[in-house]
Amino acid sequence: MDNNNQKIAIYPGSFDPITLGHLDVLKDGAKMFDKVIIAVADNPNKTGMFSVEKRKELIKASIKDLPNVEVDSFSGLTINYAKEKGATILLRGLRAVSDFEYEMQLSQNNRALSEDIKTVFLITRPEYNFISSSSVKEILNNGGDISKFVPKEVAKIIG
Ligand code: ADP
Repeated sequence: MDNNNQKIAIYPGSFDPITLGHLDVLKDGAKMFDKVIIAVADNPNKTGMFSVEKRKELIKASIKDLPNVEVDSFSGLTINYAKEKGATILLRGLRAVSDFEYEMQLSQNNRALSEDIKTVFLITRPEYNFISSSSVKEILNNGGDISKFVPKEVAKIIG
């Protein structure tokens, strides 16, 4: 069991920015675990459109009705961060078969690094299947309307 017998999950990702697809997975995860920490990966090889601080701010604005969700950021290996937080679950979302190969490899790498941490995959609702942070950035860069892709709080801040 995790800290104080709580089941803690980490939901790691770039979240550059958080989308309705991410939020859908997060909401379902929050119902399954005692605590979910949505953690922005601060990856020096992957410079985003938004700073890590901004991404956290956008997430915070989107999760006001999810009391057992915390926002954080981390660098380095996800499994080390998970251990530090007393988490035994990594939560990831799947959209289409195209996500599967990458996610399976990532999950197997993490499994090889730590037997104690398991990845749980949740499949998004079909209406969010087509949403990605990259398409949101593309739309933003071209002056389009992102309100159908991101939580309304996020659209207010960056839309
Ligand atoms: P990463 O750079 O780690 O892939 P992302 O922010 O792109 O970070 O995605 C984080 C997680 O959310 C991944 O598991 C990804 O497959 C999932 N995800 C992204 N978009 C969606 C969506 N529309 N529906 C469900 N899951 C999604």
